[in-house]
Amino acid sequence: MQQSQFPILQSSVYGHPLIYLDNAATTQKPQSVIDALTSYYTSLNSNIHRGTHYLATAATERFEEVRRKVQSFIGAADRAEVVFTRGTTESINLVASSFSERFVGEGDNVIVSAMEHHSDMVPWQMACESKGASVRYIPFSDEGVLDLGAFERLIDSHTRIVAVNHVSNTLGTVNPVGGIVRIAHGHGVPVLVDGAQAVAHIPVDVQALDCDFYCFSGHKMYAPMGVGVMYGKRRWLDEMPPYQGGGEMIKEVTLEKTTYNELPFKFEAGTPSVGDVLGLGAAIDFMLAEGVANIGRHEMELHDYAVELMRTVPGMRFIGTAAEKAAVVSFLVGEAHPYDVGTLLDKLGVAVRTGHHCTQPIMDRYGIPGTVRASFAVYNTLDEVEAFVNALKRIAPMLM
Ligand code: PMP
Repeated sequence: MQQSQFPILQSSVYGHPLIYLDNAATTQKPQSVIDALTSYYTSLNSNIHRGTHYLATAATERFEEVRRKVQSFIGAADRAEVVFTRGTTESINLVASSFSERFVGEGDNVIVSAMEHHSDMVPWQMACESKGASVRYIPFSDEGVLDLGAFERLIDSHTRIVAVNHVSNTLGTVNPVGGIVRIAHGHGVPVLVDGAQAVAHIPVDVQALDCDFYCFSGHKMYAPMGVGVMYGKRRWLDEMPPYQGGGEMIKEVTLEKTTYNELPFKFEAGTPSVGDVLGLGAAIDFMLAEGVANIGRHEMELHDYAVELMRTVPGMRFIGTAAEKAAVVSFLVGEAHPYDVGTLLDKLGVAVRTGHHCTQPIMDRYGIPGTVRASFAVYNTLDEVEAFVNALKRIAPMLM
């Protein structure tokens, strides 16, 4: 893989070559993805599914081809189980709203982990509030490991669904989702996995995991913003009511009553972001050419090297030190505010994220205002890791 495949990585920031370590927020896009977008808008743009003319038919075929590509990428049994959304947040809101409408009632509970992104916590709080149900939280250790014993004690005959992330965007923990699914299924409870931070780093097979829902965003896996996926097992999707009403999700509308389209269209109301979906197809091609497992291995090599070098920075404190981790390093330097660390690094050309990373309950758990987060992708290099840590060492005395 050449960094030159990613045009933005050739940029300079404040006179320094850009070192982009904010990949958990969004990855940069390879030229092939940018080309897929340009070529869609220069030669294929048309609204899909409803047209009979050449462009409409061609665009529809390409759109449905990407659905098959996603199906195979995540190992889904049926392409009708792949629903296109705007991203993870919309995917989870869809499930929280529609699943709860059908399956959650007064006095029931939903279990989520205490390390969820707000996008996998707030929709459940909202759904439970409207249904008179409650949310229960799986606690985690100081290292950032979920307490599965506590999870088993939380689950009971009123638990309707469990929602947990595959990889924590703040702690980097890779959660044992297969084990969580086995425990939940032992109680007849389905599991939603938030895969936003996993799909670009770990080969995912939804049938092997046996999860009931798997949600992710294109833009964190080299695809454009504006497209994501909600995978759901047909047995649930068949029973869940539509999330939004409008075009494409209907079979027939009369003034009195509407009947709904078959899967997956029942959950795809309105014109989708066709160009972005085609960009997602190009991003999957890019990842398959690299090999997802190879990408993950490369990133962990960078992660381990970064952690080793960072230990020599005065005042370094890591937040999230689980044995099973993805390539996310959250840290603090002495008593310095994460925002100050991020701002100084930025002036040296290093892009990291600072703040609560949409996981305020994690910050409360550790009693900190936020962290600085460096996260790695396929195009990062060992030289960049060294430059990042050298920049940290340079700014550390200013922060003490
Ligand atoms: N879940 C996790 C674990 C995430 O990291 C993110 C993005 N930071 C989301 C959900 C939300 O993703 P999006 O903003 O693309 O909908």
